[in-house]
Amino acid sequence: MSGHRVIMHVDMDAFFAAIEQRNNPHLRGKPVIVGGSPGGRGVVSTASYEARKFGIHSAMPAGEAYRRCREAIFVHGDFSSYHHASRLIEEILLRFSPAVEMISIDEAFLDITGTERVHGPAEQVALRVKQAVQDEVGITCTVGIAPNKLLAKLGSGLNKPDGLTVIEADRVESMVYPLPVDKLWGVGPVTYERLLKNGVKTIGDLATLNPASLKLLLGDHGQTLAARARGEDDRHVPDHDEAHFEKSMSHETTLGENSHDPEHIHSLMCWLAEKVVIRLYRGEWLARTVGIRLRYPDFKTITRDKTLPKPTVDYAEILNTASSLVPNQQIVNKGVRLIGVRTSNLVHVSELAQMELFADERRRKEQLDRSIHNLRSKFGDKIIKHAGGLKSEED
Ligand SMILES: [Mg+2]
Repeated sequence: MSGHRVIMHVDMDAFFAAIEQRNNPHLRGKPVIVGGSPGGRGVVSTASYEARKFGIHSAMPAGEAYRRCREAIFVHGDFSSYHHASRLIEEILLRFSPAVEMISIDEAFLDITGTERVHGPAEQVALRVKQAVQDEVGITCTVGIAPNKLLAKLGSGLNKPDGLTVIEADRVESMVYPLPVDKLWGVGPVTYERLLKNGVKTIGDLATLNPASLKLLLGDHGQTLAARARGEDDRHVPDHDEAHFEKSMSHETTLGENSHDPEHIHSLMCWLAEKVVIRLYRGEWLARTVGIRLRYPDFKTITRDKTLPKPTVDYAEILNTASSLVPNQQIVNKGVRLIGVRTSNLVHVSELAQMELFADERRRKEQLDRSIHNLRSKFGDKIIKHAGGLKSEED
């Protein structure tokens, strides 16, 4: 693959179920369902491969899964165990490249371009990764190798479980074009149906569709999807440190003059919290921990934080939590020269969806939208006025 990037997509096989089977030997070889209960509500989060033989899959209502397989064993998720395993996997992957991007609790991209001299050819690296995950975590994974993220992820989806697929740039037409078009990232059920109705069945059909039909069928999105169908994708895999840089988000401001006025400080907090919430929102992050940083005129600096029962991106909740940490009496007595709002312990929306057993992600996004909208309409102008003439720094 010389001249190309070498990207690996590593995906654990039936991750939650596999960890349950690892932890509980009596579950091995059995149809195991994580999430939901046979008679009750809820959906399947992960089904073991034994359960998948019955047509059971993620997001299926638990009741239906039970009808399909009466002997299925339902277990509650053990998230601390999954998170522990995920950290372990991340550590293993970092041995092979500094560019490791965990895109969810059980999936990662690695850029292993140029690591051949140290670690050998890509296929060998993949086999060593698989072996290490088996030995140290006790589960199997599937790897896709390709010149970009899109194809690497497609590749790992072709040969599960415990598979390894290499898609080289010049084999896109032979390997990818024959695949059903809904295997393509970005083709959801609605688009899929529209494409099928118009005779576009495979990725190849979409890749070679003429521009006029593309526009007619898919509007402005057509060009993008067709480029993806041709295997084009230039997203890069950030370095691990880079990916973690944003794992806390804060905003702080140095006051032009020391302030002894709690009300003034509160109005600054509103503005700072807004800045932080907008950044969380843009990155689709939620924060578990909210804190403040405060510097007195004598340069003594204090930090205080509070961890919430549930991760949030709600403006009012973040503001109220931060405000509750402000030592108002001290402000009156001593004055303040710097104040900051900080969020940490961040969880990505995609990760949260998994943690909450596929809690409706769309509802969550709507909630985010509402939060930001309320925040804008309620505080927008007022807060921006407070910001006038202030210097601010971000970390
Ligand atoms: Mg997986």
